[in-house]
Formats: sequence, C-alpha cells, structure tokens
Amino acid sequence: MSNDKTCIYCRQTDPDRFRGVEHVIPQGFGRFGSETPTLDCVCDDCNAYFGRELDQLLARDTYEGISRYSRGLLSSEARPQRRLSLTLADPAEAGDFVGLRVAVDGTTGQLMPPGGQFHVHNFRTGEDEVYFLRQIAGLTLPEADYGKPGTNGQKGTWKCKILAPSREAHDAMVEALQRAGIDFRPGTPFQNHWGPESGEPSSFLVEITSEVDKPHKRAIAKILMNFVAFHLGPDEVLAPRWDFLRRYIRYGEAEIKARLSHRQFWTGQETDQLRFRDDSINVRIENLDGNVVGAIQFYNLHTYEMILIENDALHPNQEIGRRYTPGELPVLGEKRSV
Ligand SMILES: [Zn+2]
Repeated sequence: MSNDKTCIYCRQTDPDRFRGVEHVIPQGFGRFGSETPTLDCVCDDCNAYFGRELDQLLARDTYEGISRYSRGLLSSEARPQRRLSLTLADPAEAGDFVGLRVAVDGTTGQLMPPGGQFHVHNFRTGEDEVYFLRQIAGLTLPEADYGKPGTNGQKGTWKCKILAPSREAHDAMVEALQRAGIDFRPGTPFQNHWGPESGEPSSFLVEITSEVDKPHKRAIAKILMNFVAFHLGPDEVLAPRWDFLRRYIRYGEAEIKARLSHRQFWTGQETDQLRFRDDSINVRIENLDGNVVGAIQFYNLHTYEMILIENDALHPNQEIGRRYTPGELPVLGEKRSV
C-alpha cells in the first residue's frame, strides 16, 4: 500500500485512513460508465463527513437534488425534503388545495400525501406562512402582523385555513391550535380530495422554492475542487493557493464569491460532442477576470460560477470543461485559443 498520500482536504497522511474512494460527482447524480471519476486522495474521515453533511444534502434537499428524480435517478429512502418548499401551484388542478405544501418521495419521484398544515397570512411581510402540526406548540399570531381573530377574509382579521389529508389530521390541527391559545374556528366543511381513494395518481404542478445557503454552496464547491484534483492531480490542489477553498469546503470557514451566470455554458469550448444537453451535469474550470473560476450546471437549471482562487491564474492548458451524462462516458471539452 502506498504510504505517501495526503488528503487534499485535511492533509491527513495516515495510510490506514485511505481505504475508500471519493466520487467527484456525488453518487446520487449517477454513474458514468467505466469512467465514473473518483479520487483516492480524500481520506475516509473527510469522505464520511462529506457524505453526511454535503452530498446527501445536495442530492436531496436542493433544487438540483429534486431535479434528478425526473432523470430517473431516485433515492433509496423516502424521507421528505427538509430544506425545500414544494407548493401546489396550478389552481385548475389543485382546487381548494392551492398553496398546499407537499414533499416528494425520493424512492419513486412521486408527491407524498401531504401532512396537516395551518396556513396564515402575514400582513406585514405579505407572505402566506405554513405551519405543520409539530410547529404549532408555542406559535403566536401578534395582531400587528396577522390582524385580529375573527371571520376569515374580513378586513383586519386573520386570513387563515387548515389543509389536511383526513378528518383526523384536520381535527388534530384544530386541537393543537386551541391548545396553543389560537382560537381557530373551522369554517367551510372539510372535503378530502387527496389520496388513493380518488383513483388518481398524485401528480400536480408544483412550485419549488429553495435557498442557496452555505452548505449548498460548499457542496457545489467540493465538486469543483474534486474536479480540479481529478484532472490536474492532487499535487495541484495541495498547493497553498487552494487553502482558502479547502478550508471553506471542509470546515465551513469564511465565504467564497459565487454568482449565477447567464453565459452560455460551453462558449469557446464546443466540439461536435460537447454541447449543451439538459440531461447532463456540466463542469468547467477557467481563468476569468483575473481569477480562477469554476462553473457548474445541473441539467437545464441555472449555472453557478464560483471564484475558487482570487487574483491568480491556471496555466492556459489547465483550463478544462467536461460534460457528465448519467449512464454515458464523460465528454471532454477543449479550450480553444482565441
Ligand atoms: Zn481528510
């Protein structure tokens, strides 16, 4: 066994701690034939940490994660997404259930039966807020924000409703609200439109809201750093100029500069094979505006550009782009001299 490995994230060198491999693209996003890119320069401790804290999050609780379901890349577990908001969007289909918050079953890609939920309008923010049963204890509705208790829809009074998949879930919500001191009076009779008894599969247009927060950005930055290590070798990313990025990804230290880009993804790099495809993950590392920049795009969604190293440059022949399509071999791009 080689004993000269150094982990590119924590610099550990214990040869007994390099038994597994790190996938450059998290496994949840697919495999790429016999050329699924992996690294053996990430230690088992970092690998385990990333799997738990970053890969699982990116593959499930993000817009990118949920989009993979439509490509047939499903999860092995049915836990609902935690950091995403999926809302029934189309009034024609959802009827009285417009605004209902739902989750997707990651094992099937189908909408899950919704949990009972209390919707209330916040007049100060102009937003409808949604609370599930477990969030009701301790909930307060200050008059300045929500208006006064009273008839639904009357000016200056609460604008609220309960949506629930069953009579029992509805009544449990009413009870919880009353226990919390919120005098909710159920108005319109309850009707159950949801569930298998209707004979229809649960398929609705949903609106997805997701937040690009720090763990989400670190998960994306890790793919970019893995990509550099895979193509340029571990010695390159062990150089001090990568320390800032290394510490950001592994320890969440500081913050890197990231933006959504509207540039065409493969500008200057297209070949007969390397073209935009909406079933793929595209990755690129290049010199831009005096910085080293990584760009990544999942499927046909937006492109993230991140400054990986400020005020420095790669050798021009180190600039590289690849397209990864699940089930196919990766396609290499070339930077063309201008
Ligand atoms: Zn490590």
